[in-house]
Amino acid sequence: MSAVVPIRLENSAGCTNAPVLKERGQREVFCGLTGIIWLHRKIQDAFFLVVGSRTCAHLIQSAAGVMIFAEPRFATAIIDERDLAGLADANTELDRVVTRLLERRPEIKLLFLVGSCPSEVIKLDLSRAASRLSGQVAPGVRVLNYSGSGIETTFTQGEDACLASLVPSLPRSSIEQAPALLVVGALADVVEDQFQRLFDQLGLGPVRFFPPRHATDLPPVGPNTRFLLAQPFLADTARALEAAGAQRLASPFPLGEEGTTAWLQAAANAFEVPAERFAAVTAAGRERAAAAVSRQRQALAGKRIFFFPDSQLEIPLARFLSRELGMQLVEVGTPYLHRQHLAEELAMLPEGTFLSEGQDVDKQLDRCRDAHPDIVVCGLGLANPLESEGMTTKWAIELVFTPIQGYEQAGDLAELFGRPLNRRLRLAA
Ligand code: SF4
Repeated sequence: MSAVVPIRLENSAGCTNAPVLKERGQREVFCGLTGIIWLHRKIQDAFFLVVGSRTCAHLIQSAAGVMIFAEPRFATAIIDERDLAGLADANTELDRVVTRLLERRPEIKLLFLVGSCPSEVIKLDLSRAASRLSGQVAPGVRVLNYSGSGIETTFTQGEDACLASLVPSLPRSSIEQAPALLVVGALADVVEDQFQRLFDQLGLGPVRFFPPRHATDLPPVGPNTRFLLAQPFLADTARALEAAGAQRLASPFPLGEEGTTAWLQAAANAFEVPAERFAAVTAAGRERAAAAVSRQRQALAGKRIFFFPDSQLEIPLARFLSRELGMQLVEVGTPYLHRQHLAEELAMLPEGTFLSEGQDVDKQLDRCRDAHPDIVVCGLGLANPLESEGMTTKWAIELVFTPIQGYEQAGDLAELFGRPLNRRLRLAA
């Protein structure tokens, strides 16, 4: 009986050493504050206090929608003209806002002070503020800080910065303890539950998820930790976990039947799950995923897709769409290409794929117009103008807000690309 099974990498050359067009011009992306939208839903006793301007407050409120039944777990402490002009003591004001907030909301166990462009402009030291406030409210509440400012590369970096700021607070485990698996990156609860069931059936573990659903339930980390990234945009978090002694399990990301199988297999290999058991546990999910994906194949096979850089999910998505749906990749743009974390994905992309990193939006728009792809994946700011030029678009941010990982979501993921093409066909009919 063999103990482990190899991860399938049929196109082992792929785009591993492919040239990448690097552009450093004007960018059209949301800022890292956007991550608050999904993170505040995930960590149910955390509060996100943006220290920013009215623009920041509008961004968060319009992206999150209005909550009628529950008190929101995010807010903005507005930096006004007096703060910007140095006429008021922003620290005193911040202390006052935090004290009032915590008195009013005793259920908050973790408070993130989230930096923004304005707080960085006035050089408000939020890490000092966080440790000062922590001293006042610990042990009941932990206060941390990270930056969500638009000076960063793109909006998913907000999650990376948030999780990286939380790593030093994780309890430490030791090498003597049994190996434990940590799944890193915010996943929808339904997806997390599906993965937990599969890990249980594989008999590997203990398994913990990071971020946790409750701030009072932080997973331990140490040299016995093996971690699997569930999202491709967590470079700083991975670095912080590695500094704590944890080992990253190299793998493609769990998108589509193939990506999910390879991702689970990386964990199964690390925990020496017998090949027969792995095959038996994953068989039904693989079959359901393949069947659901194949229902979209007819609509998508041969269609040409162009990715503008936005979510950092572009390379795993391109791999899924080309290999499982037969789509043709015109250009795969990504805000930042982490070659190590994406090595398995790059190896699975078709050879010769046009890859670009960063953005010079006008040049990229010219390339897109010249290529006239069947579908364009881009940010909200580009989607409407491109639609008005007759192109079919998919909002990249929807791919972050929607559960797309795992076997049961593979069909939905394919459908997210099939739907706009269908709509365009119906409009043209
Ligand atoms: S952090 Fe910067 S980019 Fe983001 S909303 Fe505030 S001002 Fe705008």
